[in-house]
Amino acid sequence: MDPIYNFSAGPAVLPKVVLQQARDEMLDWHGSGMSVMEMSHRGDEFMSIVATLENDLRELLTIPQNYKVLFLQGGASSQFAMVPMNLLGEKNKADYINTGQWSQKAINEAKRYCAVNVAASSEDAGFTYAPTLDQWQLDPAAAYVHYTSNETIGGIEFNWIPETNTPAPLVADMSSNLLSRPLDITRFGLIYAGAQKNLGPAGLTLVIIREDLLAAPLAGTPTLFNYQAHAKNHSMLNTPPTYAMYITGLVLSWLKQMGGLTHIEKVNITKANLLYNYLDSTDFYHCPVVKSDRSRMNIPFTLKDSALDRTFLQQATANGLIQLKGHRSVGGMRASIYNAMPIEGVAKLVEFMKAFANQNA
Ligand SMILES: *Cc1c(COP(=O)(O)O)cnc(C)c1O
Repeated sequence: MDPIYNFSAGPAVLPKVVLQQARDEMLDWHGSGMSVMEMSHRGDEFMSIVATLENDLRELLTIPQNYKVLFLQGGASSQFAMVPMNLLGEKNKADYINTGQWSQKAINEAKRYCAVNVAASSEDAGFTYAPTLDQWQLDPAAAYVHYTSNETIGGIEFNWIPETNTPAPLVADMSSNLLSRPLDITRFGLIYAGAQKNLGPAGLTLVIIREDLLAAPLAGTPTLFNYQAHAKNHSMLNTPPTYAMYITGLVLSWLKQMGGLTHIEKVNITKANLLYNYLDSTDFYHCPVVKSDRSRMNIPFTLKDSALDRTFLQQATANGLIQLKGHRSVGGMRASIYNAMPIEGVAKLVEFMKAFANQNA
């Protein structure tokens, strides 16, 4: 059977070898007689899984000792509330950069806790670019500056880390591009990511936070929304998402074996160029995002004639190229090509797109 290539935006494709290993270990993890799903989260077996997971993450991202790694639940969406609840302190303002639907959701949630200064926005151009730093109007009274480093729906990616030159810590929603390239963690106060895009299965939410930001949250904050409480308890305040953590651990060890983030970045650039170069060479398809801000992970495109969308998707599926339908809010297509998408999948997609354009020109 020909391989199936899955372009879903999330939950998304996982490395085949990871799924095979999980299958092999499903009923009996390392001779323990238990599935990982059946283990106590405080037992030696699971504690060793967590230790390897955290060590590998720290190694891949070179996370300094003064940063804590938290393994939480609730999805990236829960962070839209946890960030203001925990980082506002005595302040009542925060800066947000609005580059699309995920930024907007973060902004709307933050508004429940503080005044939001939208310091820059690309809404004027239908969220097709990332505002450059000279366009950012930061509020000196802001407790933090929040941006979305990769807009999963619109396909906008910041290919640079903002140097805000303010004491307010930089906070980033990296749900869809964390671990896709090397990253200087020291530039950030806090990074969060839902695992189900580029890291692992749904259920795990990763938070990397600089220790000095672990302060008392707003009065009335539930304990499970308190970073300090999670940090003190090494993410074992309550039962963590054990199976999702285990699979994420397998993904990280796969990444390390592949050659880490320097290697995966090269592969990701090659894959993205393959698709963008073709998109730019034809007017049968169109990518709306300005070239400098195009995402390496999520590539939205439309067909010249949207009446062909259905046929395109049907034929793509018949060719083993699945989940290419664009987000319901924007239509068209979206090819998500996370770390686990092999280059062969992108090559096959481009071949299919060429053939479809020829047949329907
Ligand atoms: C998917 C996504 C979210 C929401 O994640 P959930 O885990 O579903 O809450 C937030 N931000 C970005 C950038 C995303 O891609």
